[in-house]
Amino acid sequence: MISQQDIIDQTDRRSAHNYNPLPLVLEKGRGIWVWDTDGRKYLDCLSAYSAVNQGHCHPKIIAAMTEQAGKITLTSRAFHNDRMGPFLEKLCQMARMDKALPMNTGAEAVETAIKAVRKWGYEIKGVEDDRAEIIVVRNNFHGRTITTVSMSSEPDYKKNFGPFTPGFRLIDYNDAEALEQAVTPNTVAVLMEPIQGEAGIIIPDEGYLTKVRKICSRNNILFVLDEIQTGLGRTGKLFCFQHEENAVPDLLIVGKALSGGLYPVSAILASDEIMSVFTPGIHGSTFGGNPLGAAIGLAALRVIEEENLAERSHILGDYMIRKLQLIQTGKIVDIRGRGLFVGIELDNSQGGARPYCEALMERGLLCKETHDNVIRLAPPLVIENDDIDWIVEQIDAVLKDGYPRPR
Ligand SMILES: *Cc1c(COP(=O)(O)O)cnc(C)c1O
Repeated sequence: MISQQDIIDQTDRRSAHNYNPLPLVLEKGRGIWVWDTDGRKYLDCLSAYSAVNQGHCHPKIIAAMTEQAGKITLTSRAFHNDRMGPFLEKLCQMARMDKALPMNTGAEAVETAIKAVRKWGYEIKGVEDDRAEIIVVRNNFHGRTITTVSMSSEPDYKKNFGPFTPGFRLIDYNDAEALEQAVTPNTVAVLMEPIQGEAGIIIPDEGYLTKVRKICSRNNILFVLDEIQTGLGRTGKLFCFQHEENAVPDLLIVGKALSGGLYPVSAILASDEIMSVFTPGIHGSTFGGNPLGAAIGLAALRVIEEENLAERSHILGDYMIRKLQLIQTGKIVDIRGRGLFVGIELDNSQGGARPYCEALMERGLLCKETHDNVIRLAPPLVIENDDIDWIVEQIDAVLKDGYPRPR
């Protein structure tokens, strides 16, 4: 039998090294579990960066996918298809927005949002040609395209990828005062994540998003939230902005779990007025809104609703944090989270979270370090209490085993 190491060697030989994966090869997934090619079972605590909130290979989503795959998969938007309407209807109802524009990957949806707010700025707000500014926040993550890395404050994401897209202004996250000061007559939008995922599960102060909402309304600026990772139940609400009373964005960006991890499906959502800037021919995507993706998206949304995944995330996330807080160790400096979106920040002297993630892998728990010293715990939302007890036992054990051990 071919070993995992052989597969890894072949992959390393033939693929660009733009990732540093944990050394295991997965071949099967069901619910919260995944299996490697030697048949070893692991609990997935990454959920493909929250794209599989519904669990791996959810039977209802798989059924919708296979049924649709046998009918028609791609029409292009040159013709209507009978799946896109029902999908967008459901998405708009759940998000309480007027209209949606479907794309494929998250980064593409962010790009679409940027095009929308710039065009809104020129055509509706009346900003002078080519002067539109978008305010973004430090340590953001919005994807890997040239424009999304142009907004980044992370040197690694940007080095030698210039020249960058102009028109962005960086301010500190969680600082409403800084936002107030950064606004100019040319500001068309503020874009941020309601919790910064890749930055290490950074949760802003209570009321911050409400303040941002108010500043945007007062200055006729669009409030844009990237909920590609935090949305669709992950943080214990359907959308993370719902943790505050009055932080509803003008434009909402979704992706990842919108397909339950079966297929790239993303979208932006906004009011009729904002969406009216899109007229025939000015924006598009060959695969965006295709019937296969739409059938999958509709099924994925139904599962979130039928299985009360947002509520589960809320209850089980609180439970997980309470249990984690009982771990007796000096190695943890902070445990934070909303719903099943939890970060364990380790003391800097621990040499980063990576060796702990490797140790957890050996114990059958898959996590990925984020921002060097944070272990992110984001299991599929279909998880049960017992599984959380087991996760906490494994983390307790690796923190006490004297890891990181030399490799
Ligand atoms: C994953 C992610 C993206 C990018 O999505 P892709 O599908 O990888 O292009 C953008 N924003 C946030 C907050 C994300 O977590």
